[in-house]
Amino acid sequence: MTAATLPDRITGLLIDGAWSEPQSGQWLDIIAPAEGKPYGRIAGAQKTDVDAAVASARRALSGEWGQLNAAERGRLLSRAGLIVQERAEELAQLEARDTGKPIAQARADLAACARYFEYYGGAADKVHGDTIPVQNGYFAATEHIPHGVTAHVIPWNYPAQMFPRSVGPALAMGNAVVMKPAEDACATPLALADIMLEVGFPPGAINMVTGLGMEAGAALSEHPDINFISFIGSSETGVAIQTAAAKSHIGCTLELGGKSAQIVFADADPALVVPTVVAAITQHAGQTCSAGSRLLIERSAMDTLLPQIIQAFCEVRVVMPHMEGQLGPVVSARQKARVERYIQLADDTGLPLLASGQMAPELSAEGYFVQPRMYGPVPRDHRLAFEEVFGPVLAVIPFDDEADAVALANATEYGLVAGIWTRDSARAMRVGRQMEVGQVFVNCFGAGGGIELPFGGMKKSGHGREKGWEALREFAAVRTLLVRHD
Ligand code: NAP
Ligand code: MG
Repeated sequence: MTAATLPDRITGLLIDGAWSEPQSGQWLDIIAPAEGKPYGRIAGAQKTDVDAAVASARRALSGEWGQLNAAERGRLLSRAGLIVQERAEELAQLEARDTGKPIAQARADLAACARYFEYYGGAADKVHGDTIPVQNGYFAATEHIPHGVTAHVIPWNYPAQMFPRSVGPALAMGNAVVMKPAEDACATPLALADIMLEVGFPPGAINMVTGLGMEAGAALSEHPDINFISFIGSSETGVAIQTAAAKSHIGCTLELGGKSAQIVFADADPALVVPTVVAAITQHAGQTCSAGSRLLIERSAMDTLLPQIIQAFCEVRVVMPHMEGQLGPVVSARQKARVERYIQLADDTGLPLLASGQMAPELSAEGYFVQPRMYGPVPRDHRLAFEEVFGPVLAVIPFDDEADAVALANATEYGLVAGIWTRDSARAMRVGRQMEVGQVFVNCFGAGGGIELPFGGMKKSGHGREKGWEALREFAAVRTLLVRHD
Protein backbone atom coordinates (compact mmCIF):
# COMPACT_ATOMS: atom_id res chain seq x y z
CA MET A 1 0.00 0.00 0.00
CA THR A 2 1.25 3.45 -0.87
CA ALA A 3 2.27 5.71 2.00
CA ALA A 4 1.85 8.96 0.09
CA THR A 5 0.87 11.83 2.34
CA LEU A 6 0.54 15.61 2.31
CA PRO A 7 3.87 17.49 2.37
CA ASP A 8 4.69 18.78 5.90
CA ARG A 9 4.91 22.40 4.78
CA ILE A 10 1.16 22.41 4.01
CA THR A 11 0.01 23.39 7.47
CA GLY A 12 -3.60 24.42 6.92
CA LEU A 13 -5.01 27.25 4.83
CA LEU A 14 -3.33 29.14 1.99
CA ILE A 15 -3.91 32.88 2.49
CA ASP A 16 -1.73 35.85 1.45
CA GLY A 17 0.79 33.51 -0.17
CA ALA A 18 1.57 31.44 2.95
CA TRP A 19 0.25 28.34 4.68
CA SER A 20 -1.29 29.12 8.06
CA GLU A 21 -3.31 27.43 10.78
CA PRO A 22 -7.03 28.21 10.83
CA GLN A 23 -8.21 30.98 13.16
CA SER A 24 -11.08 28.62 13.95
CA GLY A 25 -8.64 26.15 15.53
CA GLN A 26 -10.68 23.37 13.89
CA TRP A 27 -9.19 20.37 12.11
CA LEU A 28 -10.70 17.50 10.13
CA ASP A 29 -9.27 14.04 9.45
CA ILE A 30 -8.50 13.07 5.88
CA ILE A 31 -9.37 9.48 5.17
CA ALA A 32 -7.96 7.05 2.64
CA PRO A 33 -11.09 5.34 1.21
CA ALA A 34 -9.36 2.02 0.52
CA GLU A 35 -8.04 1.89 4.09
CA GLY A 36 -11.10 3.37 5.78
CA LYS A 37 -8.97 5.29 8.26
CA PRO A 38 -7.38 8.74 8.68
CA TYR A 39 -3.90 9.44 7.36
CA GLY A 40 -3.62 13.16 8.01
CA ARG A 41 -5.59 16.28 8.81
CA ILE A 42 -6.82 19.43 7.10
CA ALA A 43 -7.97 22.75 8.48
CA GLY A 44 -11.70 23.13 9.12
CA ALA A 45 -12.10 26.71 7.96
CA GLN A 46 -14.95 28.81 9.37
CA LYS A 47 -16.32 32.19 8.39
CA THR A 48 -13.40 34.20 9.84
CA ASP A 49 -10.90 32.15 7.81
CA VAL A 50 -12.96 32.57 4.65
CA ASP A 51 -13.14 36.33 5.29
CA ALA A 52 -9.33 36.41 5.48
CA ALA A 53 -8.98 34.42 2.24
CA VAL A 54 -11.39 36.68 0.31
CA ALA A 55 -9.62 39.79 1.66
CA SER A 56 -6.29 38.31 0.54
CA ALA A 57 -7.63 37.76 -2.99
CA ARG A 58 -9.04 41.30 -3.07
CA ARG A 59 -5.64 42.75 -2.09
CA ALA A 60 -3.94 40.66 -4.80
CA LEU A 61 -6.04 42.34 -7.48
CA SER A 62 -4.76 45.77 -6.52
CA GLY A 63 -1.24 44.46 -5.81
CA GLU A 64 1.46 42.55 -7.66
CA TRP A 65 -0.93 40.00 -9.20
CA GLY A 66 -3.18 42.68 -10.67
CA GLN A 67 -0.15 44.34 -12.29
CA LEU A 68 0.97 41.26 -14.24
CA ASN A 69 0.20 41.24 -17.93
CA ALA A 70 -1.50 38.31 -19.65
CA ALA A 71 1.76 36.77 -20.92
CA GLU A 72 3.23 36.81 -17.41
CA ARG A 73 0.13 35.15 -15.98
CA GLY A 74 0.31 32.52 -18.71
CA ARG A 75 3.97 31.87 -18.03
CA LEU A 76 3.24 31.15 -14.36
CA LEU A 77 0.50 28.66 -15.28
CA SER A 78 2.74 26.96 -17.85
CA ARG A 79 5.54 26.71 -15.29
CA ALA A 80 3.17 25.04 -12.82
CA GLY A 81 2.26 22.55 -15.57
CA LEU A 82 5.92 21.65 -16.07
CA ILE A 83 6.42 21.01 -12.34
CA VAL A 84 3.27 18.85 -12.28
CA GLN A 85 4.73 16.79 -15.12
CA GLU A 86 8.03 16.40 -13.26
CA ARG A 87 6.27 15.33 -10.04
CA ALA A 88 3.44 13.42 -11.69
CA GLU A 89 4.24 10.08 -10.07
CA GLU A 90 4.43 11.49 -6.53
CA LEU A 91 1.16 13.41 -7.06
CA ALA A 92 -0.54 10.37 -8.61
CA GLN A 93 0.36 8.29 -5.54
CA LEU A 94 -1.25 10.95 -3.35
CA GLU A 95 -4.34 11.14 -5.58
CA ALA A 96 -4.74 7.35 -5.57
CA ARG A 97 -4.52 7.18 -1.79
CA ASP A 98 -6.81 10.16 -1.20
CA THR A 99 -9.56 9.19 -3.66
CA GLY A 100 -9.09 5.38 -3.64
CA LYS A 101 -8.85 5.08 -7.44
CA PRO A 102 -6.39 2.61 -9.03
CA ILE A 103 -2.96 4.18 -9.58
CA ALA A 104 -3.22 3.87 -13.40
CA GLN A 105 -6.30 6.13 -13.32
CA ALA A 106 -4.59 8.58 -10.96
CA ARG A 107 -1.63 8.76 -13.37
CA ALA A 108 -4.01 9.60 -16.22
CA ASP A 109 -5.59 12.31 -14.01
CA LEU A 110 -2.19 13.89 -13.36
CA ALA A 111 -1.40 13.89 -17.08
CA ALA A 112 -4.69 15.76 -17.64
CA CYS A 113 -3.86 18.09 -14.74
CA ALA A 114 -0.57 19.14 -16.34
CA ARG A 115 -2.34 19.60 -19.66
CA TYR A 116 -4.90 22.01 -18.12
CA PHE A 117 -2.06 24.21 -16.83
CA GLU A 118 -0.38 24.03 -20.23
CA TYR A 119 -3.58 24.81 -22.15
CA TYR A 120 -4.65 27.80 -20.01
CA GLY A 121 -1.04 29.00 -19.69
CA GLY A 122 -0.83 29.15 -23.47
CA ALA A 123 -4.27 30.74 -23.80
CA ALA A 124 -3.79 33.60 -21.32
CA ASP A 125 -2.48 36.16 -23.84
CA LYS A 126 -4.72 35.10 -26.73
CA VAL A 127 -8.18 36.14 -25.61
CA HIS A 128 -8.84 39.03 -27.96
CA GLY A 129 -11.73 41.42 -28.04
CA ASP A 130 -13.43 42.65 -31.23
CA THR A 131 -13.69 45.90 -33.08
CA ILE A 132 -17.24 46.65 -34.16
CA PRO A 133 -18.24 48.74 -37.19
CA VAL A 134 -20.58 51.51 -36.02
CA GLN A 135 -21.65 54.86 -37.43
CA ASN A 136 -19.06 57.23 -38.91
CA GLY A 137 -17.03 59.20 -36.40
CA TYR A 138 -17.01 56.46 -33.75
CA PHE A 139 -14.67 53.61 -32.89
CA ALA A 140 -16.05 50.62 -30.96
CA ALA A 141 -14.11 47.76 -29.37
CA THR A 142 -14.60 45.08 -26.72
CA GLU A 143 -12.20 43.66 -24.17
CA HIS A 144 -12.49 40.68 -21.83
CA ILE A 145 -11.86 41.77 -18.27
CA PRO A 146 -11.66 39.58 -15.13
CA HIS A 147 -14.65 39.42 -12.76
CA GLY A 148 -12.41 40.10 -9.75
CA VAL A 149 -12.44 37.59 -6.90
CA THR A 150 -13.72 34.21 -8.07
CA ALA A 151 -14.90 31.49 -5.67
CA HIS A 152 -14.34 27.84 -6.61
CA VAL A 153 -16.07 24.88 -4.93
CA ILE A 154 -15.07 21.47 -6.30
CA PRO A 155 -16.00 17.85 -5.50
CA TRP A 156 -13.96 14.85 -4.40
CA ASN A 157 -14.10 12.58 -7.45
CA TYR A 158 -11.34 14.04 -9.65
CA PRO A 159 -9.60 16.64 -7.45
CA ALA A 160 -6.33 16.63 -9.45
CA GLN A 161 -8.25 17.45 -12.63
CA MET A 162 -10.87 19.71 -11.06
CA PHE A 163 -8.30 22.04 -9.50
CA PRO A 164 -6.65 23.29 -12.74
CA ARG A 165 -9.88 22.94 -14.71
CA SER A 166 -11.51 25.43 -12.34
CA VAL A 167 -8.73 27.84 -11.36
CA GLY A 168 -6.70 27.61 -14.62
CA PRO A 169 -9.02 29.70 -16.82
CA ALA A 170 -9.86 32.05 -13.91
CA LEU A 171 -6.19 32.87 -13.31
CA ALA A 172 -5.46 33.08 -17.04
CA MET A 173 -8.04 35.87 -17.27
CA GLY A 174 -6.56 37.71 -14.27
CA ASN A 175 -9.02 36.89 -11.49
CA ALA A 176 -7.80 36.21 -7.93
CA VAL A 177 -9.19 32.91 -6.71
CA VAL A 178 -10.39 31.36 -3.46
CA MET A 179 -10.98 27.61 -3.60
CA LYS A 180 -12.83 25.33 -1.22
CA PRO A 181 -11.98 21.77 -2.23
CA ALA A 182 -14.09 18.84 -0.97
CA GLU A 183 -13.41 17.65 2.53
CA ASP A 184 -13.51 14.01 1.34
CA ALA A 185 -10.55 14.39 -1.07
CA CYS A 186 -8.49 17.57 -1.16
CA ALA A 187 -4.89 16.43 -0.84
CA THR A 188 -3.83 17.03 -4.46
CA PRO A 189 -5.52 20.46 -4.70
CA LEU A 190 -3.46 21.50 -1.65
CA ALA A 191 -0.26 20.06 -3.16
CA LEU A 192 -1.00 21.77 -6.49
CA ALA A 193 -1.65 25.11 -4.79
CA ASP A 194 1.73 24.70 -3.09
CA ILE A 195 3.37 24.20 -6.50
CA MET A 196 1.78 27.47 -7.62
CA LEU A 197 3.45 29.26 -4.72
CA GLU A 198 6.73 27.65 -5.68
CA VAL A 199 6.57 28.84 -9.31
CA GLY A 200 5.99 32.42 -8.16
CA PHE A 201 2.27 33.24 -8.19
CA PRO A 202 2.15 36.49 -6.16
CA PRO A 203 0.56 36.45 -2.68
CA GLY A 204 -3.22 36.26 -2.73
CA ALA A 205 -3.59 35.22 -6.38
CA ILE A 206 -4.62 31.80 -5.14
CA ASN A 207 -6.12 31.05 -1.72
CA MET A 208 -7.22 27.68 -0.33
CA VAL A 209 -9.81 27.18 2.41
CA THR A 210 -10.48 23.56 3.33
CA GLY A 211 -13.41 22.64 5.51
CA LEU A 212 -17.00 21.46 5.50
CA GLY A 213 -19.35 22.48 2.72
CA MET A 214 -21.98 23.72 5.16
CA GLU A 215 -19.38 25.92 6.91
CA ALA A 216 -16.46 26.94 4.67
CA GLY A 217 -18.34 26.33 1.40
CA ALA A 218 -21.42 28.26 2.47
CA ALA A 219 -19.35 31.12 3.95
CA LEU A 220 -17.45 31.41 0.68
CA SER A 221 -20.40 31.26 -1.70
CA GLU A 222 -22.39 33.75 0.42
CA HIS A 223 -19.47 36.13 0.87
CA PRO A 224 -20.44 39.69 -0.12
CA ASP A 225 -17.02 40.46 -1.62
CA ILE A 226 -16.78 37.71 -4.26
CA ASN A 227 -17.64 38.44 -7.90
CA PHE A 228 -18.31 35.00 -9.44
CA ILE A 229 -18.78 31.36 -8.34
CA SER A 230 -17.66 28.23 -10.15
CA PHE A 231 -19.26 25.08 -8.67
CA ILE A 232 -19.00 21.36 -9.46
CA GLY A 233 -21.01 18.91 -7.36
CA SER A 234 -24.55 17.80 -6.60
CA SER A 235 -27.73 19.37 -7.99
CA GLU A 236 -28.94 19.99 -4.42
CA THR A 237 -25.87 22.03 -3.45
CA GLY A 238 -26.06 23.70 -6.86
CA VAL A 239 -29.37 25.24 -5.78
CA ALA A 240 -27.72 26.67 -2.63
CA ILE A 241 -24.86 28.08 -4.72
CA GLN A 242 -27.15 29.65 -7.30
CA THR A 243 -29.31 31.14 -4.54
CA ALA A 244 -26.21 32.67 -2.91
CA ALA A 245 -25.11 34.04 -6.29
CA ALA A 246 -28.55 35.56 -6.88
CA LYS A 247 -28.50 37.30 -3.50
CA SER A 248 -25.14 38.89 -4.37
CA HIS A 249 -26.17 39.67 -7.98
CA ILE A 250 -23.22 37.74 -9.36
CA GLY A 251 -22.88 35.02 -11.98
CA CYS A 252 -22.06 31.36 -11.51
CA THR A 253 -21.35 28.23 -13.48
CA LEU A 254 -22.78 24.93 -12.21
CA GLU A 255 -21.70 21.44 -13.27
CA LEU A 256 -24.02 19.04 -11.48
CA GLY A 257 -23.69 15.50 -12.73
CA GLY A 258 -26.08 13.42 -14.77
CA LYS A 259 -27.71 10.16 -15.76
CA SER A 260 -26.02 9.88 -19.12
CA ALA A 261 -27.22 7.49 -21.82
CA GLN A 262 -25.20 5.12 -23.96
CA ILE A 263 -27.45 4.49 -26.99
CA VAL A 264 -26.40 1.22 -28.58
CA PHE A 265 -27.91 0.25 -31.94
CA ALA A 266 -27.75 -3.34 -33.14
CA ASP A 267 -25.23 -2.48 -35.88
CA ALA A 268 -22.65 -1.08 -33.39
CA ASP A 269 -19.10 -2.43 -33.58
CA PRO A 270 -18.73 -4.82 -30.59
CA ALA A 271 -14.96 -4.25 -30.42
CA LEU A 272 -15.60 -0.56 -29.69
CA VAL A 273 -18.80 -0.62 -27.73
CA VAL A 274 -18.29 -3.51 -25.30
CA PRO A 275 -15.18 -2.31 -23.39
CA THR A 276 -16.22 1.34 -23.48
CA VAL A 277 -19.72 0.84 -22.09
CA VAL A 278 -18.27 -1.15 -19.19
CA ALA A 279 -15.45 1.34 -18.51
CA ALA A 280 -17.83 4.32 -18.62
CA ILE A 281 -19.74 3.10 -15.55
CA THR A 282 -16.94 1.41 -13.62
CA GLN A 283 -14.23 4.08 -13.94
CA HIS A 284 -13.62 5.53 -10.48
CA ALA A 285 -16.41 3.30 -9.16
CA GLY A 286 -19.05 5.15 -11.18
CA GLN A 287 -18.30 8.41 -9.35
CA THR A 288 -17.91 10.41 -12.54
CA CYS A 289 -20.33 13.20 -13.42
CA SER A 290 -20.38 11.99 -17.03
CA ALA A 291 -20.61 8.26 -16.17
CA GLY A 292 -22.56 6.27 -18.77
CA SER A 293 -25.05 5.01 -16.19
CA ARG A 294 -27.89 4.10 -18.57
CA LEU A 295 -27.34 1.52 -21.29
CA LEU A 296 -30.12 2.03 -23.83
CA ILE A 297 -29.91 -0.93 -26.18
CA GLU A 298 -31.89 -1.73 -29.33
CA ARG A 299 -34.17 -4.64 -28.58
CA SER A 300 -32.74 -6.67 -31.48
CA ALA A 301 -29.26 -6.44 -29.87
CA MET A 302 -30.41 -8.00 -26.61
CA ASP A 303 -29.30 -11.46 -27.82
CA THR A 304 -26.15 -10.35 -29.68
CA LEU A 305 -24.34 -7.38 -28.06
CA LEU A 306 -25.80 -7.56 -24.56
CA PRO A 307 -24.28 -10.98 -23.68
CA GLN A 308 -20.85 -9.65 -24.66
CA ILE A 309 -21.30 -6.59 -22.43
CA ILE A 310 -22.45 -8.84 -19.57
CA GLN A 311 -19.37 -11.01 -19.97
CA ALA A 312 -17.04 -7.98 -19.94
CA PHE A 313 -18.83 -6.57 -16.89
CA CYS A 314 -18.29 -9.86 -15.01
CA GLU A 315 -14.54 -9.49 -15.58
CA VAL A 316 -14.34 -6.08 -13.91
CA ARG A 317 -12.17 -6.21 -10.79
CA VAL A 318 -12.38 -4.08 -7.66
CA VAL A 319 -8.86 -3.55 -6.32
CA MET A 320 -6.69 -1.66 -3.85
CA PRO A 321 -5.22 1.56 -5.32
CA HIS A 322 -1.74 0.13 -5.92
CA MET A 323 -3.13 -2.82 -7.91
CA GLU A 324 -4.19 -3.24 -11.51
CA GLY A 325 -7.93 -3.27 -11.94
CA GLN A 326 -10.88 -1.24 -13.14
CA LEU A 327 -12.00 0.40 -9.89
CA GLY A 328 -11.29 0.95 -6.23
CA PRO A 329 -13.62 1.89 -3.38
CA VAL A 330 -16.15 4.71 -3.34
CA VAL A 331 -14.99 7.83 -1.53
CA SER A 332 -16.60 7.57 1.90
CA ALA A 333 -18.79 5.53 4.21
CA ARG A 334 -21.61 7.99 3.39
CA GLN A 335 -21.22 7.45 -0.36
CA LYS A 336 -21.07 3.68 0.14
CA ALA A 337 -24.32 3.77 2.11
CA ARG A 338 -25.93 5.88 -0.62
CA VAL A 339 -24.93 3.45 -3.40
CA GLU A 340 -25.98 0.44 -1.32
CA ARG A 341 -29.42 1.97 -0.82
CA TYR A 342 -29.87 1.90 -4.62
CA ILE A 343 -28.62 -1.70 -4.80
CA GLN A 344 -31.07 -2.64 -2.03
CA LEU A 345 -33.87 -0.89 -3.93
CA ALA A 346 -32.99 -2.80 -7.11
CA ASP A 347 -32.99 -6.10 -5.24
CA ASP A 348 -36.16 -5.34 -3.27
CA THR A 349 -38.06 -4.42 -6.43
CA GLY A 350 -36.93 -7.61 -8.17
CA LEU A 351 -34.78 -6.08 -10.91
CA PRO A 352 -32.92 -8.91 -12.69
CA LEU A 353 -29.19 -8.80 -11.84
CA LEU A 354 -27.42 -9.34 -15.18
CA ALA A 355 -23.82 -9.17 -13.99
CA SER A 356 -21.64 -8.31 -11.03
CA GLY A 357 -17.93 -7.54 -10.78
CA GLN A 358 -15.17 -9.38 -8.93
CA MET A 359 -13.77 -8.32 -5.57
CA ALA A 360 -9.98 -8.86 -5.27
CA PRO A 361 -9.08 -10.95 -2.18
CA GLU A 362 -6.56 -8.28 -1.09
CA LEU A 363 -9.28 -5.67 -0.33
CA SER A 364 -9.06 -4.14 3.13
CA ALA A 365 -12.10 -4.95 5.28
CA GLU A 366 -12.26 -1.30 6.41
CA GLY A 367 -12.29 0.15 2.86
CA TYR A 368 -15.48 1.52 1.25
CA PHE A 369 -15.79 -1.10 -1.48
CA VAL A 370 -18.95 -1.74 -3.47
CA GLN A 371 -19.46 -4.64 -5.86
CA PRO A 372 -20.27 -3.33 -9.37
CA ARG A 373 -23.71 -4.36 -10.62
CA MET A 374 -25.61 -4.36 -13.88
CA TYR A 375 -29.40 -4.63 -13.78
CA GLY A 376 -31.90 -5.05 -16.58
CA PRO A 377 -34.31 -4.73 -18.13
CA VAL A 378 -35.04 -1.77 -15.85
CA PRO A 379 -38.62 -0.47 -16.20
CA ARG A 380 -38.66 3.11 -17.46
CA ASP A 381 -40.48 4.35 -14.37
CA HIS A 382 -38.03 2.70 -11.94
CA ARG A 383 -35.85 5.12 -9.94
CA LEU A 384 -32.75 3.39 -11.27
CA ALA A 385 -33.79 4.47 -14.78
CA PHE A 386 -33.57 8.20 -14.04
CA GLU A 387 -31.85 8.96 -10.70
CA GLU A 388 -28.09 9.50 -10.41
CA VAL A 389 -26.53 6.75 -8.25
CA PHE A 390 -22.91 7.95 -8.47
CA GLY A 391 -21.68 4.40 -8.01
CA PRO A 392 -20.82 1.35 -10.19
CA VAL A 393 -24.44 0.47 -11.03
CA LEU A 394 -25.53 0.16 -14.67
CA ALA A 395 -29.20 0.24 -15.70
CA VAL A 396 -30.03 -1.56 -18.97
CA ILE A 397 -33.15 -0.35 -20.79
CA PRO A 398 -34.19 -1.74 -24.20
CA PHE A 399 -35.60 0.54 -26.93
CA ASP A 400 -37.62 -0.22 -30.08
CA ASP A 401 -36.50 2.25 -32.74
CA GLU A 402 -34.65 5.51 -33.32
CA ALA A 403 -37.49 7.75 -32.15
CA ASP A 404 -37.92 5.68 -29.00
CA ALA A 405 -34.16 5.90 -28.31
CA VAL A 406 -34.18 9.70 -28.59
CA ALA A 407 -37.22 10.07 -26.34
CA LEU A 408 -35.79 7.70 -23.76
CA ALA A 409 -32.35 9.34 -23.75
CA ASN A 410 -33.92 12.74 -23.12
CA ALA A 411 -36.38 11.43 -20.51
CA THR A 412 -34.42 12.40 -17.40
CA GLU A 413 -34.11 15.70 -15.56
CA TYR A 414 -30.38 15.65 -16.33
CA GLY A 415 -28.57 16.57 -19.55
CA LEU A 416 -24.80 16.20 -19.36
CA VAL A 417 -23.49 13.85 -22.07
CA ALA A 418 -24.68 11.06 -24.39
CA GLY A 419 -22.95 8.29 -26.34
CA ILE A 420 -24.25 6.95 -29.65
CA TRP A 421 -23.06 3.64 -31.06
CA THR A 422 -23.88 2.78 -34.68
CA ARG A 423 -22.15 2.22 -38.02
CA ASP A 424 -24.83 4.34 -39.74
CA SER A 425 -23.30 7.83 -39.73
CA ALA A 426 -26.46 9.60 -40.87
CA ARG A 427 -28.34 8.05 -37.98
CA ALA A 428 -25.57 9.07 -35.57
CA MET A 429 -25.94 12.67 -36.76
CA ARG A 430 -29.75 12.62 -36.57
CA VAL A 431 -29.78 11.17 -33.07
CA GLY A 432 -26.80 13.16 -31.81
CA ARG A 433 -28.31 16.49 -32.77
CA GLN A 434 -31.49 15.72 -30.82
CA MET A 435 -29.70 15.04 -27.55
CA GLU A 436 -30.52 17.54 -24.78
CA VAL A 437 -26.97 17.44 -23.40
CA GLY A 438 -23.75 19.44 -23.45
CA GLN A 439 -21.53 16.81 -25.12
CA VAL A 440 -22.34 14.02 -27.58
CA PHE A 441 -19.94 11.19 -28.37
CA VAL A 442 -20.29 9.01 -31.48
CA ASN A 443 -18.64 5.59 -31.37
CA CYS A 444 -16.60 6.71 -28.38
CA PHE A 445 -17.35 7.94 -24.88
CA GLY A 446 -15.43 10.44 -22.80
CA ALA A 447 -12.35 12.11 -24.11
CA GLY A 448 -9.63 11.46 -21.55
CA GLY A 449 -9.60 14.73 -19.67
CA GLY A 450 -11.22 16.44 -22.68
CA ILE A 451 -9.27 19.58 -21.76
CA GLU A 452 -9.90 21.33 -25.09
CA LEU A 453 -13.60 20.41 -25.34
CA PRO A 454 -16.28 22.70 -23.85
CA PHE A 455 -18.09 20.72 -21.16
CA GLY A 456 -21.22 21.35 -19.12
CA GLY A 457 -24.86 20.55 -18.85
CA MET A 458 -28.41 21.38 -19.67
CA LYS A 459 -31.42 21.02 -17.37
CA LYS A 460 -30.57 19.66 -13.88
CA SER A 461 -26.96 19.06 -14.98
CA GLY A 462 -26.31 22.78 -14.66
CA HIS A 463 -25.28 25.63 -16.90
CA GLY A 464 -22.18 27.40 -18.13
CA ARG A 465 -19.22 25.72 -19.79
CA GLU A 466 -15.93 24.57 -18.36
CA LYS A 467 -12.89 23.31 -20.26
CA GLY A 468 -11.64 24.52 -23.62
CA TRP A 469 -11.83 28.12 -24.79
CA GLU A 470 -15.38 28.60 -23.51
CA ALA A 471 -14.19 28.52 -19.88
CA LEU A 472 -12.04 31.60 -20.48
CA ARG A 473 -15.16 33.51 -21.50
CA GLU A 474 -17.01 32.42 -18.35
CA PHE A 475 -14.29 33.90 -16.15
CA ALA A 476 -14.39 37.31 -17.83
CA ALA A 477 -16.88 40.06 -18.55
CA VAL A 478 -17.04 41.94 -21.84
CA ARG A 479 -16.44 45.68 -21.62
CA THR A 480 -17.39 47.73 -24.67
CA LEU A 481 -15.55 50.94 -25.48
CA LEU A 482 -17.10 53.56 -27.76
CA VAL A 483 -14.94 56.55 -28.76
CA ARG A 484 -16.22 59.51 -30.72
CA HIS A 485 -13.56 61.09 -32.89
CA ASP A 486 -15.30 63.26 -35.49
P1 NAP B 1 -21.88 18.15 -2.72
O1 NAP B 1 -22.42 18.33 -1.37
O2 NAP B 1 -22.52 18.88 -3.81
O3 NAP B 1 -20.32 18.53 -2.64
C1 NAP B 1 -19.60 19.23 -3.63
C2 NAP B 1 -18.81 20.36 -2.99
O4 NAP B 1 -19.71 21.34 -2.44
C3 NAP B 1 -17.94 19.92 -1.82
O5 NAP B 1 -16.76 20.69 -1.82
C4 NAP B 1 -18.80 20.25 -0.63
O6 NAP B 1 -18.09 20.37 0.57
C5 NAP B 1 -19.41 21.56 -1.08
N1 NAP B 1 -20.63 21.95 -0.38
C6 NAP B 1 -21.57 21.17 0.23
N2 NAP B 1 -22.56 21.91 0.73
C7 NAP B 1 -22.29 23.21 0.44
C8 NAP B 1 -22.94 24.44 0.66
N3 NAP B 1 -24.10 24.51 1.33
N4 NAP B 1 -22.38 25.57 0.21
C9 NAP B 1 -21.21 25.53 -0.48
N5 NAP B 1 -20.53 24.40 -0.71
C10 NAP B 1 -21.06 23.24 -0.28
O7 NAP B 1 -21.83 16.62 -3.10
P2 NAP B 1 -21.57 15.35 -2.13
O8 NAP B 1 -22.44 15.44 -0.92
O9 NAP B 1 -20.11 15.23 -1.90
O10 NAP B 1 -22.05 14.16 -3.05
C11 NAP B 1 -23.43 13.87 -3.15
C12 NAP B 1 -23.85 13.57 -4.56
O11 NAP B 1 -23.51 14.66 -5.42
C13 NAP B 1 -23.14 12.40 -5.22
O12 NAP B 1 -23.66 11.19 -4.82
C14 NAP B 1 -23.35 12.72 -6.68
O13 NAP B 1 -24.64 12.34 -7.06
C15 NAP B 1 -23.23 14.22 -6.73
N6 NAP B 1 -21.85 14.65 -7.12
C16 NAP B 1 -21.63 15.09 -8.39
C17 NAP B 1 -20.35 15.46 -8.76
C18 NAP B 1 -20.01 15.96 -10.15
O14 NAP B 1 -18.89 15.78 -10.59
N7 NAP B 1 -20.92 16.63 -10.81
C19 NAP B 1 -19.30 15.37 -7.86
C20 NAP B 1 -19.56 14.95 -6.57
C21 NAP B 1 -20.85 14.59 -6.22
P3 NAP B 1 -17.79 19.09 1.52
O15 NAP B 1 -17.99 17.86 0.75
O16 NAP B 1 -16.37 19.30 1.91
O17 NAP B 1 -18.71 19.17 2.70
MG1 MG C 1 -10.00 11.27 1.48
